[in-house]
Amino acid sequence: METFIQVVYFLAAVLFILGLKKMSSPVTATGGIVWAGIGMAAASAVAFFEPGVFDNGTNVFLIILAITMGSAIAYITAKRVQMTDMPQMIAIYNGMGGGAAAAIAGVELVKMSGGQHAMDGTTQVLAVIGALIGAISFSGSAIAFAKLQGLMNKTLRLPMHMILNLVLFALTLIAGAIIGFGDSPSILLIMAFFAMALVFGVLFTTPIGGADMPVVISLFNAFTGLAVAFEGFVLQNAAMIIAGTVVGSAGTLLTQLMAKAMNRPISNILFASFGSDGGDVQDEDIEGSMKEVQGTDAGIMMAYAEKVIIVPGYGMAVAQAQHKVAELAQLLEKRGVTVKFAIHPVAGRMPGHMNVLLAEAGIDYDNILDLDEVNPEFPTADVALVIGANDVVNPVARTNPDSPIYGMPILDADMARHCIVIKRGKGSGFSGIENHLFYADNTSMLYGDGQKAVGELVSGIKALD
Ligand code: NAP
Repeated sequence: METFIQVVYFLAAVLFILGLKKMSSPVTATGGIVWAGIGMAAASAVAFFEPGVFDNGTNVFLIILAITMGSAIAYITAKRVQMTDMPQMIAIYNGMGGGAAAAIAGVELVKMSGGQHAMDGTTQVLAVIGALIGAISFSGSAIAFAKLQGLMNKTLRLPMHMILNLVLFALTLIAGAIIGFGDSPSILLIMAFFAMALVFGVLFTTPIGGADMPVVISLFNAFTGLAVAFEGFVLQNAAMIIAGTVVGSAGTLLTQLMAKAMNRPISNILFASFGSDGGDVQDEDIEGSMKEVQGTDAGIMMAYAEKVIIVPGYGMAVAQAQHKVAELAQLLEKRGVTVKFAIHPVAGRMPGHMNVLLAEAGIDYDNILDLDEVNPEFPTADVALVIGANDVVNPVARTNPDSPIYGMPILDADMARHCIVIKRGKGSGFSGIENHLFYADNTSMLYGDGQKAVGELVSGIKALD
């Protein structure tokens, strides 16, 4: 039986890795999720064959009850969630993973404290490290969820916040060291250790602005992976070790990728307040003026173009305009216009945000280009249509060393012959700074909600037939 269990865990781990590999392309991503899901189901099912599970009828009942409740809640919430609310859903699910890893460590440490169960020295230390990381990830992710869900609007910074955090973290580490290296730690000390780790997770997250939360969530995701891997050593469970390590490294790489695409060090994201959550921009002296265009006129301009590049951003997600955008692209292609989509790595509010929306609307993946592929194409495009994007097309990132986004790679929409920008008014982007593209000679502003404005473009083109 033991061999059978280990073989299934091994196969589950292989399915996780292959599933993750398939998730790296939108074409194969759905299959990847199914593969990883089968792996998870197999690992969960075989856990019932572990020795001792059926020794006590109540345990099995509780396990099945927890699985049923968890699956029902996950199914209902995942069905109902809006695409724009996806980051907070990931935050809360991720937090649950960290909490579960911390809970496993908690049970093992309490057993040890009662003298029921002896761990070898290394395992004991790993249990404590996993508990620490998992508990921080749990409470930090809960705060990230509350912020993104609008349940907690303020960034909370106490007097001497950083020092308080450092002292709390040092005390948690000391308590952890006593538990990790001690023979029979007291229950009180274990409880104090968990309480301090949970409070640290809260205090670590409260000063970070809501707009930076996706990066923080990705970091907590990496933490959860590590915590699960450490607890895998404690339970001698190969599937947990491998899955946790894969999640830990994927989360770390994603965090780095997001920070690089925003051209900000991770320390700046975690310890400096940055960005607005979409208020109006401050006045700034800029040469030129914004020129308004009517939807039908802009539609006609696009209908007679040879090449149009569409740049979607956060506003397209807010307006849920992806289906109208797909209709627009189809109409233009029917008229012989070449249409491409330009995706910035941090467009929207989570990695892959735009890819998912465009895929949902049925856009051909071959026409969706990454920053490096598409930038050389802007100078030969007749029209760049920017829909609800702001920071990712702001030319100051190339030109003004004093700008907070200086150095961030951007999509060169300003280099197209003509640029049409759809947005509702003077609202800022995530960074809260003025966008010089909107004032350029070759830019026209089409004001209105994204879905309505693209509808006007569509009507303008249809009127030509
Ligand atoms: P953005 O800079 O946040 O700008 C979005 C624009 O959309 C706003 O200027 C807003 O202007 C407009 N808008 C909002 N609702 C709209 C609607 N219903 N219809 C039409 N327009 C609407 O977006 P972005 O260019 O996609 O850039 C993303 C930013 O988020 C970057 O600064 C990035 O660093 C940051 N970020 C991204 C991630 C990620 O993983 N993707 C994570 C963290 C941070 P109006 O209010 O005037 O309409």
